[in-house]
This record gives sequence, C-alpha cells and structure tokens, in this order.
Amino acid sequence: MAAVPPYLLIDVDGVLNPFPGPGGSVPPEYLPHRVDFRGHRGVPIWLNPNHGVRVNALCSTGLVQPCWATSWGAEANLLIAPRVGTPHFPHVDLGTPDISTPHPRGYLWKRDPVADWLGNAPVAWIDDDFAPPDYDWAAERTRRGVPTLLIQPDPYAGLGRHHIAAIRLWAASLSQVHDTAGNHHERPLEDPRDPVARGPQWGACSDRP
Ligand SMILES: [Mg+2]
Repeated sequence: MAAVPPYLLIDVDGVLNPFPGPGGSVPPEYLPHRVDFRGHRGVPIWLNPNHGVRVNALCSTGLVQPCWATSWGAEANLLIAPRVGTPHFPHVDLGTPDISTPHPRGYLWKRDPVADWLGNAPVAWIDDDFAPPDYDWAAERTRRGVPTLLIQPDPYAGLGRHHIAAIRLWAASLSQVHDTAGNHHERPLEDPRDPVARGPQWGACSDRP
C-alpha cells in the first residue's frame, strides 16, 4: 500500500482548457470565458464544469492528492478553479523557463522541476505534452517502486471521463493492503456513480512531499 496517496498533477492548457480546432471551435461541453492573466486582458479560455465534478469526485475518495502543474501557476486557483468548480489546490513551482518549444531537451520542459518537487512520491500526472522520453522516465520510476502514471489527453478534446476513470483504477490498485497472513484488502471506495452530492471534502495536500 502506498504510504501516502499519490499526487495528482493537473495541467490546464490542453487539459482543462482545450485548444481551439479549425475555425476556433471547441467541444460543445466547454463554456467560453475571458480572464485577465499576467497583464493580458480578456484572454479567451474554454472550461468544462463537468471537470470540476469529476476531479472533485476522484479526490474525495482520498486516493490522490491534487496539485496544479501548469504555467498558470498559483493563478490557476484564482482564474480556473472557480470556473470549473474545484477548491484551491497547491501548485508545483515550474519557474519561468526561457523556452520556445515544450521539449527543449527532448522531453517535457516541466519534468525537471516536477521531478525535483516529487522526490520519491508516487504520482498520476495529467498533461497534454508528454514526449516519449517522459514515458521512459515514468516507467523507470515505477520499476524502482515509485508508481508513476502519465495521462495525456488530446489537447483539442481535453480531459475526458475515461482519463479520470483510469486514474481512479490505478490509484485504487495502489491502495490495496496486505495483512500479515498475505490476504488482500482494498480501501473501501465511495460510489463513483454519485459524484455530485459529495463535493470537495478532502484536505489540502502538503506543499512538498
Ligand atoms: Mg498543456
């Protein structure tokens, strides 16, 4: 059993805020918003209120500890969270890298600060921009006993229900415990079919693992 629940790292752009397709369209479940962000007024974003419901339901199980891992930084709590219906989350400080590509060294630019921040903590990490070496990194962590799951949505579709379901299954598998007789037990889970009624009941995760 994992000593502490794994972190759930959540990106914003291409995950909660999909990229517009040809003609500026986004999937119909997303609602348009405009936000003032770092000196830019009226930045258009599209958000899906179902994301808040689903993320809240997942986190209310206690199986994961949510944190932002996005270039929106702490401002995700001010500009994104209230519009999708999540509480405030801690965030990983990604710094302000001078990059012109998401993969300046062949892998996701966020990976180094995220790896430093995580240490040996298990993680499910949602981002639309992983490169093949990131999957090698995740596999290597998992091999040495640090469960690591990468979830990569299509940036034009954003986070889907199936992504959340996959994370839930993965995290539930980590929550299995073994008693001294070798019997397996699972931490009881709440009914996933009724996510709305429970709301955000989990405690905030620590700033560091
Ligand atoms: Mg992204």
